[in-house]
Amino acid sequence: MNLFRLLHAYIQTKQAMGIRSRRSLEARQQRLLTRHFQWVLKHSRFYRRTFADAIADWDEAVVTFERLEKLPLLDKETMMAHFDELNTVGIRKEEAFRIATQAEESRDFTPNIGKVTVGLSSGTSGNRGLFLVSAKERERWAGVILAKVLPRGLQSKESVAFFLRANSNLYTTVQQRRLTFQYYDLFHPLSAHVERLNQQQPTILLAPPAMLLFLSHEKKEGRLQIDPIKVVSIADVLDDRDRETIAAQFGQPIHQIYQCTEGFLAATCSHGTLHLNEDLVHIGREWIDRDSGRFVPIVTDFSRTIQPIVRYRLNDVLVEKKEPCPCGSVFTAIERVEGRCDDIFYLKERKVQATRAVFPDLIRRAVWQAGERVLQYRVVQQASNVITVAFQECRGSDRREAEDRIRAAFFQLFERLDVQPAMIRFTPYQAPVLHKKMRRVERMWSP
Ligand SMILES: [Zn+2]
Repeated sequence: MNLFRLLHAYIQTKQAMGIRSRRSLEARQQRLLTRHFQWVLKHSRFYRRTFADAIADWDEAVVTFERLEKLPLLDKETMMAHFDELNTVGIRKEEAFRIATQAEESRDFTPNIGKVTVGLSSGTSGNRGLFLVSAKERERWAGVILAKVLPRGLQSKESVAFFLRANSNLYTTVQQRRLTFQYYDLFHPLSAHVERLNQQQPTILLAPPAMLLFLSHEKKEGRLQIDPIKVVSIADVLDDRDRETIAAQFGQPIHQIYQCTEGFLAATCSHGTLHLNEDLVHIGREWIDRDSGRFVPIVTDFSRTIQPIVRYRLNDVLVEKKEPCPCGSVFTAIERVEGRCDDIFYLKERKVQATRAVFPDLIRRAVWQAGERVLQYRVVQQASNVITVAFQECRGSDRREAEDRIRAAFFQLFERLDVQPAMIRFTPYQAPVLHKKMRRVERMWSP
């Protein structure tokens, strides 16, 4: 572990976070883009080949935002299909998959090929992504995370509890004198977590929303006795209502880290607003709906060398914030991460032969119309005209009444969007397995 590299990344990140003009931020981005792009072209066969046509008429190798926007897009399928020639260290897909899967099954978290850590992203079995990170990149990552997350800087002593679906070497780097760092495996029994947390007394707690909800409940019941100074939601989309529930139990606003295997994309500031990490990545926008600020992010990372990420189209929907954040940061403020593109519902329009996109946020809001009666829920679009709402009602509340309210809210929504009403079915709620991704809104049907 190279502490110097960690500190260097920490200081660099703190400096970049202090930039107070959008113009200097963008100038810095173009400088980093240009430098990294040249490196990538030299070392990655895939990018060299894919970008050859687009850059043929560039008179100089400067990457402006306009030029960047004209480069072909990369998605998960393409990245996986060309894995071998995209990575710059000659690692083959079959070998990487074998090592990562073995490590995951044996819960042995040292899937290394040489100095490179191999990780598997979550997803359905045929659709999992592979990612490669070097020791250098891990140390840098740790420094960046610390700069963005530690509320009191490096001077104060912190004890961090970090819940993860599957650990890989990627996440265990952060250990030094002032910092205790304990990792919690989401596969372990829940009661064991509570006991361990009570012993650790973390000052910072990082966990996916489903786990934070469980811990809030344990805190309410008096079994969990911890008082972290910062609670951070990671990995999954944090629903506004869940956020309120968790915040109420921990007595503070809940922070968020928006990160995926393609990069560390956003983190909340002291005001709780998510800001894009525009010091680390350039995030282009593929607009879905400009009026509401919804877009699909196109990610270009400035520093990853083992598996470079250039013009990568994420399968997520973000909503840009309309008003500037009072914290004064020039990094783009995000209203929320709305969910995956795959979870946008599609309903038939009433008047024309077409489908209309219905964003997860609208679906969630329809369920919230039932107010406090609904404790837990999950909404799935099963077919073009069938929506299933699974929910658990509050003890002592009238389930029928909640159903009526939710149904009425959906019909109001259909009316407003001018789409053909879908059938709303109700089923009992089944608690999700905590080590799986929690999706409150999901589409299981393709238009
Ligand atoms: Zn802010």
